[in-house]
Amino acid sequence: MFILTYVEGDEFMNDTICAISTALGVGAISIIRVSGNKSIKIVNDIFKGDNLNNVDSHTIHYGYIVEDKRIIDEVLVSVMKKPKTFTVEDVVEINCHGGIETTNHVLELLIKNGCRLAEPGEFTKRAFLNGRINLMEAESVMELINAQNDKARNIAINGIQGKNSNVIKKLRDKLISIIGNIEVNIDYPEYEDIYEYQASDLNKELNNIEKELKIIIDNYHNVELINYGIKTVIVGKPNVGKSSLLNKLLNKEKAIVTDIPGTTRDLVEGNINIDNITLRIIDTAGIRETNDVVESIGVQKSIDVIKSADLVLMMLNNNEKLTKDDYDLLDMTSNKNRIIIINKSDLNNNIDIDINKYSNIIYTNTINDDGLNELINKIKEMFNFDKIDNSDYNIVTNARQIGIINECLTILLDIKNGLDNNVSLDLLEMDLKNIWEKLGVLIGESYSEELLDELFKRFCLGK
Ligand code: GDP
Repeated sequence: MFILTYVEGDEFMNDTICAISTALGVGAISIIRVSGNKSIKIVNDIFKGDNLNNVDSHTIHYGYIVEDKRIIDEVLVSVMKKPKTFTVEDVVEINCHGGIETTNHVLELLIKNGCRLAEPGEFTKRAFLNGRINLMEAESVMELINAQNDKARNIAINGIQGKNSNVIKKLRDKLISIIGNIEVNIDYPEYEDIYEYQASDLNKELNNIEKELKIIIDNYHNVELINYGIKTVIVGKPNVGKSSLLNKLLNKEKAIVTDIPGTTRDLVEGNINIDNITLRIIDTAGIRETNDVVESIGVQKSIDVIKSADLVLMMLNNNEKLTKDDYDLLDMTSNKNRIIIINKSDLNNNIDIDINKYSNIIYTNTINDDGLNELINKIKEMFNFDKIDNSDYNIVTNARQIGIINECLTILLDIKNGLDNNVSLDLLEMDLKNIWEKLGVLIGESYSEELLDELFKRFCLGK
């Protein structure tokens, strides 16, 4: 990997940057953030009020933003001098009146006076490059902004406080101590008073690290469900009420509800948050044997989605006897986390399902919402998120991070294999260093420019 180190004086980093940090639209207040060497001077040049060049750090000042003596807005300006700021640079925040025209006008004035418009995530990137936060902490900032439920928020705030990255730092410390032990033995084999580090010692320490990596990997599945939602697919024959259920859950008419079997032809997706659980619901085309080409594309997609779903809501019609399609679907989903929903409970009970043969059956009626609460409670019971409690920091929170942890585990298992085959410790030491380096990339001790670009461009503007 190409490793870059940030060099003080970097042209790009020398720019004073500005951006609107609040959502752009009509609102009471908009905050425009400015960061960099010239931030106080530039804002002062367009500010009528106290001379900001002379004020104390971390103070707020009332005044006006002016352009050629014309008042543009009445504002409050916060001045925060380095180093105790988010970016470790001089930061000024302008609280102006909300609304697109005023906010954009102030922003344009700042740019005219020497600021550069910040790139997405550039404030956080600077906080990272200036050493205030590590890469996992920076990613947690984004995850906090994107949190859709309370647990996701909690995971992110722990991340921002460095609790998760501390676990990684401790793992690195352990690796360095092991590497040190091996090197002492290589460098000073003749000294008898030095304890000879044995393969069995290494094996013991590797077992502990393996255990920790595996806990992180196990926890990641739950973190994914919490942060990104439980990928939930609703399957069933056409006309059983899948779209009606989805609409009830989404509370908006995103899917077409109709009486003609097979009209829901494509996938419809939406996130819903119920009692601090996020469901990533995917409605599918009605699954049945079909000659209709367009529909069969939908059917194939449905089958693919079932494979990747975390939860299957299998819907049947209370009013009809089971058909071959129903049995096929029941078979196809038998090894999944599944809830069988018998819908149209308001109509005659003609269904001939053997309820002793299946678990997790719920009766619903999407017309008057019967059974919906029961359904939601069942989902909560199935995905017992309490497994990740608030004090468990053996957590990584995104694909980049878990990718690195998986790579580390693979190398570690290779080392253990080497030990079993009597490979000498000095040869295995290289692989240990490799794990140590990868964990360094995880927290951002080393990084490539491409990685940073990729990471921070996912941030919103102004963060
Ligand atoms: P899908 O093809 O499985 O998506 O089914 P739809 O949601 O389009 O529903 C098909 C028809 O069944 C529509 O006319 C719905 O109004 C009706 N329907 C849905 N749920 C219920 C229910 O619980 N009871 C009754 N009686 N009709 C329902």
